[in-house]
Amino acid sequence: MTTPPLGTTPPRPSGAGEAEAVGLDVGATKIAALRITRDGTVLARARCDTPRGSAQDLVATLADLVKQVRGDRVAAVGAGLPGMVDARTGALVFAPGLDFARAPLRELIEEAVGLPVRTDNDANTAAWAEYRLGAGRGHDHMVLVTIGSGLGCGMVVGGRLLRGSHGYAAEVSHLVVDPRGPRCECGAYGCWGVSASGRAIARLGCEAVAARPASPLARLIGPEPSGAGEAVTRAAGEGDPEAAGILARVGALTGRGLAALANMLDPSVLVVGGGPISAGELLLGPARASFDRWLYSPADRPPVPIVPARFGNEAGAIGAALLALEELAGRSPAG
Ligand SMILES: [Zn+2]
Repeated sequence: MTTPPLGTTPPRPSGAGEAEAVGLDVGATKIAALRITRDGTVLARARCDTPRGSAQDLVATLADLVKQVRGDRVAAVGAGLPGMVDARTGALVFAPGLDFARAPLRELIEEAVGLPVRTDNDANTAAWAEYRLGAGRGHDHMVLVTIGSGLGCGMVVGGRLLRGSHGYAAEVSHLVVDPRGPRCECGAYGCWGVSASGRAIARLGCEAVAARPASPLARLIGPEPSGAGEAVTRAAGEGDPEAAGILARVGALTGRGLAALANMLDPSVLVVGGGPISAGELLLGPARASFDRWLYSPADRPPVPIVPARFGNEAGAIGAALLALEELAGRSPAG
């Protein structure tokens, strides 16, 4: 991140009647909770492992986290969920990282915590955090792409989150960015999610190690493939040319995907988040060059900046809390 996430500040009086919200970010392995004010100041944080088991187990864990960070002024709870969330009911319809399917999570969390709850896809909530308070602030047409182990995307169009008819919009993982790329679970080759994600960086790192087991990068990655993606990003930052080449390749494919989104949506900024962004220009430079190559008629339109996200791994929770607060205040952020 070029700008650090907002830090924790000691609890302070935040104006008479100023509401606060709790944001939850449910990942496949970890859950983050925080309490924020409307301006994004984080007042409390808690974290735990994602429970294995039923939706009821998850809800009990979420209720416990809310209890840990909750203060007197909390008026709503927002939750970013790792899958398809029904925009009408707030139910989690499908989440590849969780063991259960189709759970009325908004309803269940409301019952458990006794507060109004809003649920949404975690990439949507992260995009909302960047739009409201981060790198997309002031841009009513913006896209956030997050390079996690897979690929997340949220889109703001005309100052509203783009959710589509049911809540399932902005699923860009299966957009083909590399026709000669690896096979995706969907059956196609070269989908964005398998070609230019954290998983892709790890795979390319492991392939490089297999091809040149005596290289400096091989010594950094070691025999275990877990953590290979992080090792590649770190090595690139430390000047390893092979690792930099991997990030350049992933950056170029990212730029191709971003160009496709810009051709569709005509945003005024594109925000890129996720762990590999810590490599900065090693990833973003090739992304920009490729973006210019694939954007339709770039000379005839204003430049579209490709910028790093402001918020790190707290974007999902912050955006979920902001969405919950804004909805409570009678504002309709949903598209
Ligand atoms: Zn696919």
